[in-house]
Amino acid sequence: MTAACAETTAAVEPQEGKINLLGLSAEKLTRFFADIGEKPFRATQVLKWIHQMGVDDFDEMTNLSKGLREKLKVAAEIKAPEVVSYHDSADGTSKWLIRVSDGNCIETVFIPEKDRGTLCISSQIGCSLDCSFCATGKQGFNRDLTAAEIIGQLWIAAKAFDSLGAKANRVVSNVVMMGMGEPLLNFDNVVDAMGLMLNDNAYGLSKRRVTLSTSGVVPMLDQLADVSDVSLAISLHAPNDELRNELVPINKKYPIATLLASARRYLDKMPDVRRKITVEYTLIDKVNDRDEHARELAVLLSDIPCKINLIPFNPFDQSDYKRVTNTALNRFRDILHRAGHTVTVRTTRGDDIAAACGQLAGTVNDKTRRSERYEHQSEYKNQERPVKFVNGQ
Ligand code: SAH
Ligand code: SF4
Repeated sequence: MTAACAETTAAVEPQEGKINLLGLSAEKLTRFFADIGEKPFRATQVLKWIHQMGVDDFDEMTNLSKGLREKLKVAAEIKAPEVVSYHDSADGTSKWLIRVSDGNCIETVFIPEKDRGTLCISSQIGCSLDCSFCATGKQGFNRDLTAAEIIGQLWIAAKAFDSLGAKANRVVSNVVMMGMGEPLLNFDNVVDAMGLMLNDNAYGLSKRRVTLSTSGVVPMLDQLADVSDVSLAISLHAPNDELRNELVPINKKYPIATLLASARRYLDKMPDVRRKITVEYTLIDKVNDRDEHARELAVLLSDIPCKINLIPFNPFDQSDYKRVTNTALNRFRDILHRAGHTVTVRTTRGDDIAAACGQLAGTVNDKTRRSERYEHQSEYKNQERPVKFVNGQ
């Protein structure tokens, strides 16, 4: 556990009886103002103060009357989670360690590229799904993040970059739900937070620039299409069920065919026929990186509108897996290319500050005690790792 993370815990807990406006969707904020006898336009004003100006003090909201500000101070607060530390990587990647409660910390990462700045956001403290190659999964699970804690990560980054001024050229243009946790297992809070990301009175990001990544919680994916139209990334990582059962245990419950059918239904509900899903495939040395895996994947995805994102496995302490070799990576990519697929390779960024994908582990008070089991198992390195079924489902 990070000592700095464990020190205090009270700061982010909402004060008794006060409602935290940070995580309220536009609809919920409007309802809040109706409940205190105020007109709906107040919600728009406050939404702008909080999310566009980064204001967390009602006294700074100068277009609200003094009376209303006093009323708000009694009933509400604007409370972002507390930043424990901030690190810049040599390649421009930034990472925040954010305290959320009870000694738990999450990590949020900003990855600048030529034409965009992507913020990678966490949705849960830990993850219950236990994918075999994932540092978050190995930490077990504590709880869902609240909507305020999810949108709070964007609020913190946007405010930090704002304070640097325009010259610093650090702007969050894209958000990916690819940090700690499985977003579809924290459905309502994630949907509320994504709504704020898209809302023109809040962050105003385009739906193409907000991506939800899931390992395949099919019933929730089907529900997502009814309430949201953000971009979708599916964490596939294997071209057949036998291998995927090993890497992504939730596959035993929702196998590949079921998952891809659901992803297709998601696309079918989108108004824009050109939209594609992103298929994420983490390449692990001698596990899922063989030529026949690439060929099988090419066929499997032949009629799915998608682009394939190959992610070289990022090693971490509790894992015996190795990063794919460059030769295997190039062969894999070429086979998919030749089959007519659009393929991108995710370059590893920020690994000097452990900010690369799958290295996000924060600090989790594991309620599942999975992390203890892994410590025990690590005494038996190189023995076959038992495949466990998911909990939290
Ligand atoms: N739970 C969601 C989102 C978080 S994981 C999901 O699984 O999609 C975000 C992405 O990082 C996923 O594609 C995941 O498979 C990938 N990932 C996890 N651990 C990794 C590692 N060690 N190396 C590379 N990619 C990893
Ligand atoms: Fe959870 Fe995603 Fe990690 Fe799997 S890859 S354990 S679903 S965070």
